[in-house]
Amino acid sequence: MKEMNMSDLTNKYHISVMPEPDEMPMGLQSGSGSAASSSGSIESSSGSSGCDGMGVEQDCTITLSASGGNADPDTGSIEIPISAAGSAPTAGDCCDLNEPDYSFWVIEVLSSISAEGPWESADSSLSILPDAASPQQALLQGTLNKGGRFYQIRLSASATWSAEESDNDCENCSGCDSCTAETETTLIAYRPCPSGCDKTVTVTPKLNPIYRWVIDDNACAVTLKVRVILIFFNPTREIPEPDWTSTKIENYKSMFASTVEDAFANNYAIIADDIICCPCTSYQPMLKIELTNDEDAIQIGIMSGVSNYVIEINGVNESKRDWTRGSIFNIETIGIGPNNDRSDISMGLKESSLEKTIKSTPPSTSPCHNIEQIIAAHEFGHLIGLEHPGQDLTPVAEPGSLADYEADADGLMSCGMSLRKKYFEK
Ligand SMILES: [Zn+2]
Repeated sequence: MKEMNMSDLTNKYHISVMPEPDEMPMGLQSGSGSAASSSGSIESSSGSSGCDGMGVEQDCTITLSASGGNADPDTGSIEIPISAAGSAPTAGDCCDLNEPDYSFWVIEVLSSISAEGPWESADSSLSILPDAASPQQALLQGTLNKGGRFYQIRLSASATWSAEESDNDCENCSGCDSCTAETETTLIAYRPCPSGCDKTVTVTPKLNPIYRWVIDDNACAVTLKVRVILIFFNPTREIPEPDWTSTKIENYKSMFASTVEDAFANNYAIIADDIICCPCTSYQPMLKIELTNDEDAIQIGIMSGVSNYVIEINGVNESKRDWTRGSIFNIETIGIGPNNDRSDISMGLKESSLEKTIKSTPPSTSPCHNIEQIIAAHEFGHLIGLEHPGQDLTPVAEPGSLADYEADADGLMSCGMSLRKKYFEK
């Protein structure tokens, strides 16, 4: 924590009670106290029988409020004064009230990137320092762990009045009671970003129902979410293979998303050019595939069997092709299967595409020879805009040629499974 005086605090720190996001200047805002909704409760009322006017007869109440305060944006250290106000019970003629005993405690601390939540458990260490000279007041102090976040701090306070027998002549009295009131209040504090880090990442709105980026400042992750519908075909072949069964389809569906997502699981961090260190210093790129039955999603055709199959392009009058691997078709209509089923699928994969397989074509002298790959992950890379490494060469390699792959043989967007920084730069 830097050394600073109170004027520094006033200029740089910011804690407010129940703030509105629009009213959050980056300075100390001496927020008005939010009065606790008080609920007094009487704890002890026995022992006053037989002695009219004896003991503590009325409910006692307490309110709790907090206002202003300081936060150090660099360390998260906070100091917020809190104050209780008690309303004493009536002691009666035969008892004299003592000064109440106050106590304060922190019930729970939650945090969120928005003042409206959603709230999650916060890693914080807060405690309450009593004020010996003024027991109804105290200082909430400690550390809020992350900048750029709101903190919901639930506090509780209690006051207990005890009484002693007065000098009045009261007969048949067994003693004086006590009264304890307890209350709870919630205050919202905001820890600003450290100096120079006062930019907040804006969560991208849902731009597109198929692809969307989701920035999660809680997990410090940026996730590309892709909605996918899998369509299962039994394609035409010279030598037929077994058709899909419902069991095989369910197995494939249950494996597809996790297999492709795992292939893109990485150790890269996205760090913005501008300093954005609040609340996250960097973001973990992730891929999330959401399987749906909605035909507005990306359509991926999954072909039964493992051998080459025939597709008809742009109708029966056009050429037929022997299709070997999955790929982006970029073709408006293709025909697959015995009835020449039409589809505008974006990609065709074979039943075996979730297993690691060796690309069969490269010669033994090629760096691609004998390298294993999960075809579905490679093809999904194309679907999200990634190209073969040869597309970065000068001159550019012929798309799909051996040179196109050999430029980075081990890469997922080539013949292997290795991830590259470039895949996450989009
Ligand atoms: Zn490819």
